[in-house]
Amino acid sequence: MKAIDWPGVLADLAPIECVADRALVRQKSRDFFWYSPVLNERLKAVRGDLLVSPASEDEVVRTLAYCHARRIPVTPRGAGTGNYGQAMPLQGGVVLDLGRLDRFLSLEDGVARVQAGLKLGDLEAHSLPQGWELRFHPSTRRTATIGGFIAGGSGGVGSIQFGGLRSRGNVLGLRVITMEEKPRVLELRGEEVMQAIHAYGTNGIITELEIPLARAWPWHEAVVAFDDIGRAASFGNALGEADGITKKLISVFDWGAAQYFKPILPHLPAGQAVALCLIADASREAFSLLAGDGGGRIVFERAAGDEADEIPPLYEFTWNHTTLWALKADRTITYLQCLFDGPDYLDKIARAVAAFGDETPMHLEFTRIEGHVAAFGLQLMRFKSEQRLYEVIAWLEAAGCPVADPHTFILEDGGMKTIDEAQLAFKRQTDPLGLLNPGKMRGFSPAACPVAERPA
Ligand SMILES: Cc1cc2nc3c(=O)[nH]c(=O)nc-3n(C[C@H](O)[C@H](O)[C@H](O)COP(=O)(O)OP(=O)(O)OC[C@H]3O[C@@H](n4cnc5c(N)ncnc54)[C@H](O)[C@@H]3O)c2cc1C
Repeated sequence: MKAIDWPGVLADLAPIECVADRALVRQKSRDFFWYSPVLNERLKAVRGDLLVSPASEDEVVRTLAYCHARRIPVTPRGAGTGNYGQAMPLQGGVVLDLGRLDRFLSLEDGVARVQAGLKLGDLEAHSLPQGWELRFHPSTRRTATIGGFIAGGSGGVGSIQFGGLRSRGNVLGLRVITMEEKPRVLELRGEEVMQAIHAYGTNGIITELEIPLARAWPWHEAVVAFDDIGRAASFGNALGEADGITKKLISVFDWGAAQYFKPILPHLPAGQAVALCLIADASREAFSLLAGDGGGRIVFERAAGDEADEIPPLYEFTWNHTTLWALKADRTITYLQCLFDGPDYLDKIARAVAAFGDETPMHLEFTRIEGHVAAFGLQLMRFKSEQRLYEVIAWLEAAGCPVADPHTFILEDGGMKTIDEAQLAFKRQTDPLGLLNPGKMRGFSPAACPVAERPA
């Protein structure tokens, strides 16, 4: 097959914004894959050939039709904050930057319709003055796009009230463009949206979406210290179950993890476990009673909107930001992702702490799953070898704690462990040649036509 003439592609796509500069394209071909030493080794040389930044849905359609005709792979990109190499173009080709599709379209009765490239913080800049906020957001609220979150994320700050992206009702509609000779524009509603949620953009480009928002509260930040991680975890559970207390975040850390939170360290008692919480102003009194009952001591508080000091918003120490703080201090650290669930989930946490101690400093994110409280374990891990990493993962799986492996870029191996038949069936209809983000969906093999050859 003929190699691609990239300057020719650039000229053909004009006036759509395209960049061929190698350094910039390389930069825009990367995400936070380097969180994982395993992915770092495998993906560090990956780069696309051309960055294309459409400014309208028509330009997306034109780009896809053009790339389909020439069998050029297309990998969509929001802000590139994914941490499993989701947005990296394994087979080169076009990196499709959706960041210019950033319009806030409407807000009616608490339902927002927006373009996919809108940053989460900018979305809330529109909705908060009207009293509405995101039901939940990743800790990358300031940088990530809403389309990238839906296509590559799972949950975050607010999941203790509303669950995750795949909980029914959290995404109402998606507008998706297919990768075909004549790209179609599909409006997915109801259960159909699951086909494209957390599919890494392998089965369509999301251009617009509709999500229900939550009534905004003034969120009060608090850190509670405990003698040990067991007490802190029990408090996390009690707060999660406290129906009368409105909360948005319950993150628990042992000292091994909290020691890396540099800007807030002067407030943290050395050696203690801590819970970082966001509580509605109206729930403060009940919250401090509950903390006292659980043997905790409030060591830091900040009123809603009072972020004038050096300390970033508390949520920027939580979820996948925790690993970032640790990596800033020690490049050998990586992390795990497992679920502690079931009636004995606090025991499971205690067993994992006893088994691995400071090899995997404990980090818990309390969440709601199908109506009950559970905790994601995002333990840090002092990385020794890939073999040891997978020994620990095998131990967790055997102990009844399913692991969403953050050291793979393969969609099915990361979380679901099985092929999602609905996503696969949708892929066969929307991208039969396998040109969208190729190499990420293990269950799919292209019907025909290999992708175009890259020039040397
Ligand atoms: C410090 C840090 C903290 C994080 N915290 C969280 C967290 O709390 N919760 C969480 O779930 N994740 C978290 N993540 C992962 C990541 O931030 C989220 O998944 C984020 O929302 C991704 O948004 P993005 O715009 O950066 O997407 P990208 O990284 O650019 O893309 C993510 C995936 O979606 C695809 N994609 C992007 N846009 C589109 C589109 N319009 N149509 C189709 N496919 C598309 C990409 O190809 C890629 O596969 C964190 C990551 C970091 C580095």
